[in-house]
Amino acid sequence: MKTDLKSMTKEEMTAAFQELGLPAFRAGQVFSWLHKGVSSFQEMTNLSKELRERLAERYEITVPVAVRRQESQKDGTIKYLWRLNDGNCVETVLMRYHYGNTVCISSEVGCAMGCAFCASTKGGLVRRLTPSEMLDQVLFTQLDSGLPVSHIVLMGIGEPLDNYDTVMRFLELVNSPNGLNISMRHISLSTCGLVPKIYKLAEEKLQLTLSVSLHAPSDEIRNTIMPINKAYPVETLLEGCRAYYEKTSRRISFEYAMIDGVNDTPECAKLLLRKLKGLPAHVNLIPLNRVEESPLHPSSRKAVAAFQKILQDGGVSATVRRTLGGDIDASCGQLRRKFEKREATQEKKREI
Ligand code: SAH
Repeated sequence: MKTDLKSMTKEEMTAAFQELGLPAFRAGQVFSWLHKGVSSFQEMTNLSKELRERLAERYEITVPVAVRRQESQKDGTIKYLWRLNDGNCVETVLMRYHYGNTVCISSEVGCAMGCAFCASTKGGLVRRLTPSEMLDQVLFTQLDSGLPVSHIVLMGIGEPLDNYDTVMRFLELVNSPNGLNISMRHISLSTCGLVPKIYKLAEEKLQLTLSVSLHAPSDEIRNTIMPINKAYPVETLLEGCRAYYEKTSRRISFEYAMIDGVNDTPECAKLLLRKLKGLPAHVNLIPLNRVEESPLHPSSRKAVAAFQKILQDGGVSATVRRTLGGDIDASCGQLRRKFEKREATQEKKREI
């Protein structure tokens, strides 16, 4: 088995190369090539042929293959389905905002969290991604689209805090001045609420934005749509968020998917207001994206607007997230799921 070179930090690469008798600047050169998205050592033209061959014997360079690419005709959002080395697939979405191109990347193949409204979790967790597989989603999206990426959101398939060490390393890699050099302030990490990991993350004191998928103000409702709430109920989660704010001074962003008749009443909005009291927060209201096989429906525009008004009148900043890529299955896990179902059907047909 060859070592996955792109998952290494520059310091680790320097140490590993030193053992091979190579000078430190070689690690710098190789690190920059890898973070430009080269597919082979042959492309590293400032290394001798002999050195390239030596490295190729020992190390591998991961290269995902785009098996699907869909571009929204409405807003230019591009969605990729990448096939990884072991045949598993993950999704990445490139969104064009006025402040810069943003990629939404996956942290796991599938997800173990079981949220009722989410397509990513339907087949459970297959495996966690490696740092290079996370980084590749940014590198190859940028290369394929020709659009420079300035912002990253960890809001694709998977639960980032369930793949904690890998995510921390990924953040270090994309933040590296020799690599993409993307500022922590341009990165958001979204979690369904793994509270012990929120405390751990607070200790890292990163300047990223923590997004918490709250989706309901009470245990009664949250228990019915998010199984994680049974382990870490709303009060425990909000206590963790308060501690996070105290450590980092970073305002927390709460995601709230509006589901018709489930969490969208004025009473829910008022309760949410009370729960968020004293916590600097921003609420992102997201009209639910319809997922096949799910009985849940998005709230009406009127219900969303009324909910937003109650929050704003109560002094909590709340925006309604503009939905991008509605015509290309651009929400969480939908493309991977459709692709896998289609493959499974074809597989069955072949068997017959
Ligand atoms: N596991 C992490 C990150 C991935 S999901 C988390 O739970 O936060 C990214 C966001 O999309 C989460 O807020 C998630 O709850 C939300 N989401 C998932 N399915 C959705 C759907 N069908 N409609 C709207 N939002 C959805």
